[in-house]
Amino acid sequence: MIKIIKKPSYLRTLIDSERCKGRTVGFVPTMGNLHDGHMSLIERSVKQCDITAVSIFVNPIQFGANEDLSAYPRTFSNDRKKLAEARCDIVFYPRINDMYKNRMTTVHVSDITEGLCGASRPGHFDGVTTVVAKLLHIVNPHYAFFGEKDYQQLMAVKKMVFDLNMPVNIVGCPIVREQDGLAMSSRNAYLSHAERAQAPLIYRSLKKGSELLMQGKGISLAKRRIVENLRGIDNGHIDYVEILDQETLKKPDTNSVKLRIFAAVFIGRTRLIDNIGVRIK
Ligand code: AMP
Repeated sequence: MIKIIKKPSYLRTLIDSERCKGRTVGFVPTMGNLHDGHMSLIERSVKQCDITAVSIFVNPIQFGANEDLSAYPRTFSNDRKKLAEARCDIVFYPRINDMYKNRMTTVHVSDITEGLCGASRPGHFDGVTTVVAKLLHIVNPHYAFFGEKDYQQLMAVKKMVFDLNMPVNIVGCPIVREQDGLAMSSRNAYLSHAERAQAPLIYRSLKKGSELLMQGKGISLAKRRIVENLRGIDNGHIDYVEILDQETLKKPDTNSVKLRIFAAVFIGRTRLIDNIGVRIK
């Protein structure tokens, strides 16, 4: 039977007892409204670890003042069913007060959080690394699974874990897409029918860019073509398109072997992000 736990201290006790029995613990942090992208991380954990814990927590401190915190879809009973079917063992479903009462501490990862979504969403990554640090301390897993969908987030979490000597292995997992290529996201539900029809253009544009890079056409041409393609989205607005070294998240140099193309695009009022990796040598 899946266990639903709200109190951080109960969860600690439970995980401690599992670890004492020699069991490996996998953890997948989420904000709920689970789709196949989330489920791929959970399936990976269930396969690899003896015990899988999933958190469902819509983290208020990672939302900006004008963002969609109150509108963010909350679908706990449906999520719980999906998790039970996936043979997840524990759902951590904390109350805001049990996470943030009188908080005076923020975990800040510098540098790699400054560009891309960090530039468009001030404070967002501080909210992410603070909640992930707390969750990793509460759950104390051997492995924690994150999607490459939020690639900059994955890199920031890896850096935090390294810098703070946190005893956990961070596992990055590939992006799960709809059949037409759109990266799965809880925010896809905000799209109108007409907007949804335009959304696959994001991935198509990134793929076009990656083909050009692989043909040796160069970064500026690839970027230009991606932007041209994205401008074809009705009612669309490009937040950013960047082609960076995927290890450093900096402009590629002559040593760069693996690049990553990143895009954030508003379709109507919905902001969607996507990325694709390209090996150029
Ligand atoms: P969220 O609920 O949006 O905070 O996402 C929880 C985790 O699921 C994060 O590690 C995301 O990167 C991951 N995730 C979200 N969408 C996808 C997707 N389409 N493919 C793979 N992982 C995803």
